[in-house]
Amino acid sequence: MSEGGHTPSARDIRLLNNFPTDLRTARKSLDLEPDIITYASCTKCSSVYPPKKSGDVTEWPMECTWRPFKTSSPCGQSLVKSAVEAGESVRVPVCPLAIQNFNSFVGRLLCRPGYEKILDEGTVLNNKTDQLQDIKDGAAI
Ligand SMILES: [Zn+2]
Repeated sequence: MSEGGHTPSARDIRLLNNFPTDLRTARKSLDLEPDIITYASCTKCSSVYPPKKSGDVTEWPMECTWRPFKTSSPCGQSLVKSAVEAGESVRVPVCPLAIQNFNSFVGRLLCRPGYEKILDEGTVLNNKTDQLQDIKDGAAI
């Protein structure tokens, strides 16, 4: 056994025996997969378009509609191309822009163990120590 006498639990042993050996599986099985939103970005003017979900199908506009001025004609650049995913023909962005869903990111961050305590202590100065290791250590910031 390891120093300190910690005996692995049955759950720990199961986890060690079935521990994923590739990053993708590890991220999925440990629920570390981020919630990603894929936008379509225009290759001509860099305008960004969010996806629209209709059922299980994700769609993006076919063409860029950005206008530099109200009287200008739209950019018109094609935003999607045909591709085959899982044996089906689908339209995917020509220039995908993958961004983590911010609300999901903040939600997952706040759900981490001990995070509430960290936030509660966020405005409290620690003047009980002589070693200054954090901006909050000492009598003043
Ligand atoms: Zn454009």
